[in-house]
This record gives sequence, C-alpha cells and structure tokens, in this order.
Amino acid sequence: MADFAQLGISQEILDALADMGFEEPSPIQAACIPLVLDGRDVIGQAQTGTGKTAAFGIPIVERVTPAPHVQAIVLTPTRELAIQVAEEIGRIAKYKRGVRALPIYGGQSIEHQIRAMKKGVQIVIGTPGRVLDHLRRKTLRLDEVRFFVLDEADEMLDMGFIDDIEAILRLVPKDRQTLLFSATMPPEIRRLALQYMNRPETVAISRGTVAAPTVTQVYYRALESQKLDVLCRILDAEEVERGILFCRTKKGAAELAQALQTRGYSADALHGDLNQSQRNKVMDAFRSGELELLVATDVAARGIDVENVTHVINYDIPQDPESYVHRIGRTGRAGKTGMAITLVTPREMKQLQHIERVVKVSIEPREVPTVSELG
Ligand code: ADP
Ligand code: MG
Repeated sequence: MADFAQLGISQEILDALADMGFEEPSPIQAACIPLVLDGRDVIGQAQTGTGKTAAFGIPIVERVTPAPHVQAIVLTPTRELAIQVAEEIGRIAKYKRGVRALPIYGGQSIEHQIRAMKKGVQIVIGTPGRVLDHLRRKTLRLDEVRFFVLDEADEMLDMGFIDDIEAILRLVPKDRQTLLFSATMPPEIRRLALQYMNRPETVAISRGTVAAPTVTQVYYRALESQKLDVLCRILDAEEVERGILFCRTKKGAAELAQALQTRGYSADALHGDLNQSQRNKVMDAFRSGELELLVATDVAARGIDVENVTHVINYDIPQDPESYVHRIGRTGRAGKTGMAITLVTPREMKQLQHIERVVKVSIEPREVPTVSELG
C-alpha cells in the first residue's frame, strides 16, 4: 500500500499524521485524497471506522489558506460528530499555521460561536440547523467556500435534514468541490449527488453493506421478560470493559441505564432529551473509561467514535439492516477487534435473518451463560 507521502501531501501534514499515529492511509483515504487534491467531486462509500474523516480532512487542510474566511464547510448529523470531526481536522492542521477548524452546533451558546468565528476560521464543521441559524443571522458567510462536505450523508437523510442541506447548498458558490461520504448509498443520496455534484467520482471500498470483518457477531435468544437478566449474565460473562448498548427508544434507554445502575453496573444513558452539557458529561466519562456502559438510541450514537469499544450490544434488535451496520461499526474500529451481541426475542428471529441476508454476514447463536458457570 502507498504511504501518505506518495499521495502528494506536504510535510507539515505528514508530520501531523505521524503525531496522530497514522502510519499508512486506509483504502478509502488512498483512493480519495488524490482525487480531491486533483479538484474532483467525490462520493466516498465505506463502512464505518474506515477513516472517512481524514479522507476529506487531509486534502481540505492541504488546500485551504490562512486567509480569514470560511473556505470549507462540513455538515454532520449530530453535535458529537461535529465536535469529533473538528478535533480530527484540528489535529491534521496542527502544523499548518493560521488554519483553524471550528465546530458549530445547537445547544452551545451562539454568541460563543460568533466570537470564535470572528477570530478567523477556515473550516467550519456543523450540524445543519445551527449552520442555517448562523447563515440567517449573517454571522457565517459561505461565499468563499471551495469545499462542501456531507459527512455520514445517509444518517443525515434518515434524520430528516434534506431540506436544510439543500437550503445550505444553494448558498455555496457553484464552483466548489462537493464531497459526500456515507456508509450506505440509498437512492435519495444518489439523487442528491446527481443534482448537486459535478461529475463525481465514486469510490466504494466494499460493495454493499459489509460489516467490519474484525467484529465477531453473535446473538442470544431471550424472552422479552427475561432480557434484562440475560443481559446481566452476558455482561458478567463477557467482561465488557467499554460497551455501547442500543435501545429502540429514549425511554427504553433511560430505563435500561437506571436498571443497570441499580444492579451495580457502571452505566449511563445518552439520548436526545439530554441537554448539551449533560451529553458532554456522559461522553467524557465514557471516553475516559470512568463509565463502562453507554446506553444509547440510534440517533444519539450516530457517528460516535470512541476508541477501544470492546462490545456493542443490541438490547433491542435494530429496525433495519443499515442500522445494524451502523451500530456494530462502533466497535472493531481502526483494525481493533470487537464483539457485537444482539438479543433476539422469538418473535424477532425473522428480523435477525433479514439482517443476515442483507448484510451478508452470519450471526452465530450463543447459549446464555448460566449463573453457576460464572462461579
Ligand atoms: P469513519 O468516518 O469511516 O467511520 P473515522 O474517520 O471516524 O471513520 O475513523 C475511525 C478511527 O480510525 C478514528 O479514530 C481515526 O482517527 C482512525 N484512523 C483514520 N485513519 C487512520 C489511519 N490512516 N491510520 C490509523 N488510524 C486511522
Ligand atoms: Mg465518519
């Protein structure tokens, strides 16, 4: 595989990548970086955890200048992801003097963001709602933008951001590069690409929805009324160090976190009803390892990248195969191994088989550990 230097990246960025521990480009990076540097529009499709952020972050940092206006705008589906992408781009730009990346998202003081932007920001990473808010207040101008990025495009569409995205796109100069990254390519995304991109080059790293090969995938059968007990036995037997547990609803997530706390587990919930500082607190605790089990809804967990997540547990089976792929993409990232566990009630067996068929994986059955086996 080519190394970063062969992709036409300058020394200041190579040094930053070395500091980040990036030794060689991932396949999506090796394919996308030269295209973007060459001025092309790119559609990048690859499963989660394959390094899509740097696939657009590196060439954008390479191309922006220290001039004090916004030259690149990245839209992300969630606040957490905006922060995470801004951090990664900030690290890539570490040695590039005068180039700064700023996350703007709802739930944070807009005045704070306005002040930060006045200092001169070249790369803005934001959620669609807050970006529009700044555009209406004229505290953000996009007329010098040369790069428009849709990150996790499929999730943004799932979350109903299509109108906001199109409203923002209309305010970005036509002679820009448009980059679109997504784990899956549903038809609405193809339509978006056709309408707003200029002869895009598609880079698909794995065809279809193929789950990360480093994730062991198993399921346990459990009656609805026994799910909590089964979960606790699994948690004890598996020695889950850092796990994300998925629930279907916000209420379900809050209740499961509470039930686990009562049983003495280190668990907390992340869901849409928390305010930003509560969410940040939960995420910080989970990142630092102080919190072992993060109980989340699909929406809350979108795009979250936490290192060394050992287990993803589908307490409630995902509604569709794409959601399964997104959920299990939270573990086994960057080549590390992970374990994905799904609890399945007898009525849900058909849903499990549907996921297996579409994702083209086999999810192996496991026997629920008995209490005596645990000693
Ligand atoms: P995706 O957007 O495809 O889900 P991310 O961009 O969030 O993936 O990357 C997943 C993780 O892999 C991040 O922690 C990132 O820092 C790391 N990573 C990305 N590219 C490389 C690389 N070339 N070498 C090592 N680690 C990488
Ligand atoms: Mg991503």
